[in-house]
Amino acid sequence: MSCIFCKIVNGEISARKLYENDEFIAILDAFPSSVGHSLVIPKAHVDDILEMDEALAGRAFALAAKIAKKMKPALNCDGINILQNNGEAAGQTVYHLHVHIIPRYADDNVAIKWGTAADNEDEIEGIRSKLVL
Ligand code: 5GP
Ligand code: ZN
Repeated sequence: MSCIFCKIVNGEISARKLYENDEFIAILDAFPSSVGHSLVIPKAHVDDILEMDEALAGRAFALAAKIAKKMKPALNCDGINILQNNGEAAGQTVYHLHVHIIPRYADDNVAIKWGTAADNEDEIEGIRSKLVL
């Protein structure tokens, strides 16, 4: 089994741990995009959000929120991004689901930006009709 995050969960590879319970570990990212970049990782391997139990996903984000609330005063950061990549096109590089908690500072070099892909009302409504639950 070659999954790097499974190895961290199993203790085969060390990590700087922030929190652990029966379902998750939270660790510092080894290659942080900004100082304090943290990860919430479910102990049970799933590749991505499409494979994940929705209630467990909710608890992962609840833990991310708890970390964010600690992070803001502890690091005195100016903002926080919470994000989660699924698939190569979305920037996923480790195929064991994880949630990023990225503290942001006024002059950091973290780039999380997008433009506008559609601004036509008919096109947007067409997309809505495909996505509505
Ligand atoms: P992704 O691009 O898949 O959303 O994010 C993967 C993250 O895992 C990256 O931010 C990367 O720095 C981090 N990472 C990769 N290998 C390790 C490791 O061995 N230990 C820790 N703590 N983080 C890692
Ligand atoms: Zn894994």
